[in-house]
Amino acid sequence: MDTSATMNKELRDATVNRKKRPGYRCLGKQRDGNYAIMVGAVTGTVDGDQLMKLSAIVKKYAAGGHFTTAQSMVIVGIKKENFNDAKQAVIEAGFDIRSIGRDVRQVKCCAGANLSPFGLQKTPPLGQELEEMFRGLPTPMKFKISVSGCPNCCANTMLNDFGIHGMMNGWKIFIGGKMGTKPAIAQELARLVLTDDVSRYLAAVLRVYKENAEQDERLSKTLSRIGFVTFKSEVEAKLDTPFDDLIKEAKNARETAEKSTCIEHIKEQL
Ligand code: SF4
Repeated sequence: MDTSATMNKELRDATVNRKKRPGYRCLGKQRDGNYAIMVGAVTGTVDGDQLMKLSAIVKKYAAGGHFTTAQSMVIVGIKKENFNDAKQAVIEAGFDIRSIGRDVRQVKCCAGANLSPFGLQKTPPLGQELEEMFRGLPTPMKFKISVSGCPNCCANTMLNDFGIHGMMNGWKIFIGGKMGTKPAIAQELARLVLTDDVSRYLAAVLRVYKENAEQDERLSKTLSRIGFVTFKSEVEAKLDTPFDDLIKEAKNARETAEKSTCIEHIKEQL
């Protein structure tokens, strides 16, 4: 079996540049010269009608699909001239278009106590709430969130910028995790947090991160640079700060993303 591949440096560098641009960026050109769309379903949950619609979109516009590790479906093999029609069809089918840019990404969510025998908390309601509040918010670097229903952490709680797992009486919150070439394990920020208070913690973490991070700096680096204890005390000082402004900024960013003919950004860079 030969698994070797030749690097397409121009495409790789262009993709890296797109990922580092502020705010939303759609998945772009692929190695085969066609385009791809990253389709997201909130909390990774879909119903039969949505699956049927997605199947029709793939048949009409694409060569196939690939499930990512972040609970997205990448529709691949889309011809350039079909890109915007395919994107619109995905949105009209009730899915969101996911980003590879510098913003709050989708909430990765395990099955939780609705389904899993091990679950200590139900994950989809909270995952959906956090996603509706914050997904799309522009951040200094990508910002990933995960929700696991118990300490088994199947949604990789400790490898996300903001990860939580269920306990008997609330949630444990970790911050500063990441994957990549230099992975970082998240550190515990708080425990026994009530469900209704998780969004307050997330808003405060996002605010402190946005205020303190340097350009292109992932949260793990910000924590290393200014110190976890300092960051944590700033978060705790902001827990009662209203965060309607963050919710509004995220909503505006999502609306802009849905309207954007993001293939134009791709044309600029390739
Ligand atoms: S993290 Fe716990 S609740 Fe979630 S899928 Fe894994 S075992 Fe089940």
